[in-house]
Amino acid sequence: MRILLVEDDRDLGPRIARALRDERCAVDLVADGVDAAHLGETEAYDAAVLDLGLPGMDGVSVLRAWRAAGRDLPVLVLTARDGWSDKVSGFKAGADDYLVKPFRVEELVMRLRALVRRAAGHAQPLLRAGPLSLDAPTGTFELDGLPLKLTALEWRVLSQLMLRKGVVIERLDLLEKVYEGDADTDSNSLEVIVGRLRKKIGAALIETVRGRGYRLVGE
Ligand code: CA
Repeated sequence: MRILLVEDDRDLGPRIARALRDERCAVDLVADGVDAAHLGETEAYDAAVLDLGLPGMDGVSVLRAWRAAGRDLPVLVLTARDGWSDKVSGFKAGADDYLVKPFRVEELVMRLRALVRRAAGHAQPLLRAGPLSLDAPTGTFELDGLPLKLTALEWRVLSQLMLRKGVVIERLDLLEKVYEGDADTDSNSLEVIVGRLRKKIGAALIETVRGRGYRLVGE
């Protein structure tokens, strides 16, 4: 998962970013509303976490700008403890969920995973492709019922393929969802990651579609 995290609190922002990276997410952290509006409109994210009180441009206006630009990524809004009107204006602007500060970052991660799973059209928490399964709430992959050890990059690639099983995912699309905004992306590195994944899960599960990208197969 690649997450856009918009939070201007100097402690909370980096703390959430660290927790999300520990859960193998790619995270772009921004503290300014104008930057957030721009990134959300131009970059590809699986979901956004959006604080409402921001310098530059408030969070509700940021969200309205994303939706007006046709961006349909799931958005989880962060609100203050007694922020009933914040919740209402967040939902009116197109939010999908909210969390009240202070919160457990574990809960934030769970909610984001559920939002991303739902946005990909899955109601079931357990996704399968042949011998491979993904427990979406925990992010755990198993192969033939045994836990699969994956690096963060491998996990990101495989979860993108799993969420859209049977569909060809374009190389550029995959690269965008796997790397953070300031990372050096090299499309050869995607080949390397897919090669390592094939060694771990079996070569037949990930098909290469020449000139386009990759597709996960299996009932
Ligand atoms: Ca704030």
